[in-house]
Amino acid sequence: MPQTLRKPNNPKPKEWCADQLSQQYIADYKPFNFVDGEGIRCSLYVSGCPFHCPGCYNVAAQNFHYGQPYTQELEDQIITDLSQSYVQGLTLLGGEPFLNTQVCLQLVKRVRKEFGHQKDIWSWTGYTWEELQKETADKLALLKQLDILVDGRFLLAQKDLTLQFRGSANQRIIDVPASLKNGQVTIWKNLVR
Ligand code: SF4
Repeated sequence: MPQTLRKPNNPKPKEWCADQLSQQYIADYKPFNFVDGEGIRCSLYVSGCPFHCPGCYNVAAQNFHYGQPYTQELEDQIITDLSQSYVQGLTLLGGEPFLNTQVCLQLVKRVRKEFGHQKDIWSWTGYTWEELQKETADKLALLKQLDILVDGRFLLAQKDLTLQFRGSANQRIIDVPASLKNGQVTIWKNLVR
């Protein structure tokens, strides 16, 4: 089947679990970048994503064994980098952060312990907000630690390179605390397009 006709995978609720899939591997770490969210950010790319979206921006990181194991040394480096006053926050992406919750939960809890809410935390995910509400406890625990979630699969048919921080028009930049409080998706207040 031509790649453009294939769709991303659609898991049933709780079908995919970090404790079965994650190898706790990291595809990349990029400190001090300007592209993975608002302001200057430190970005952690976790390994493994079974959504397999055609046109995925990071195909290598779909493999749960790609890259290097997450280490305490890397975590300490991320905390040191985040402590720079000009860094706005941490970004989690991949791969699928919500299928690497062992790594991501440990890191976001450390960030909150060290910095409280002085640094913000963004995460990308292939899950939609609505799907995550029916997901495993570890995924919900990670969601609760976030400020911003960019949700949904990358859909080639809705690809739009003019959008802020996302590749296809179905994806949303969601204000997580406001959405949890309101009981419905609330879009990031700084959205321009
Ligand atoms: S959800 Fe993101 S990382 Fe996963 S396959 Fe799709 S585009 Fe790639």
